[in-house]
Amino acid sequence: MSSRKITCIVCPRGCALEVDVEAGTVTGNTCKRGAEYGIAEATNPVRTLTSTVRVVDADGAFVDMLPVRTAAPIPKGLLFDAMRQVDAVRAQKPLRRGDVLVPNIAGAGVDLIATRDLI
Ligand code: SF4
Repeated sequence: MSSRKITCIVCPRGCALEVDVEAGTVTGNTCKRGAEYGIAEATNPVRTLTSTVRVVDADGAFVDMLPVRTAAPIPKGLLFDAMRQVDAVRAQKPLRRGDVLVPNIAGAGVDLIATRDLI
C-alpha cells in the first residue's frame, strides 16, 4: 500500500489526511473538499506562482517592480521553468491589473498576469 500523509490546507482546520494513492482513498478528512485536495495533492500537486517582474522604460532602464501571479495553479513540476520565464520579463507601463505578461507560461495552459495597476 502506498499511502501519504498530507495536511489539508483547504481551510484553517488543517486535517491530517492519509491518502492511499493506489486505492484512491482518503482518510482523516472532515469534509469532501479535503478528500478532493488529498487526491489532487498526492497525484498532481499544483501551486499558484506569485512573484514580481521588472518594469523598464523605452530604453530598457529599470523603473519599477510589478507583482504578478499565475491566473490559476500550475503543476509543481513546471514552477522552475515558469520562474525562468518570469525572470526574463521586461514589462513596460502602462500596466493594468489582469494584463497578461506571459501567455501559457511554461506550457501550463495558464497565463502570468499583473496583480496591480502600474500607470
Ligand atoms: S478536510 Fe475539510 S475540514 Fe479538514 S482541513 Fe480540509 S477542508 Fe478543512
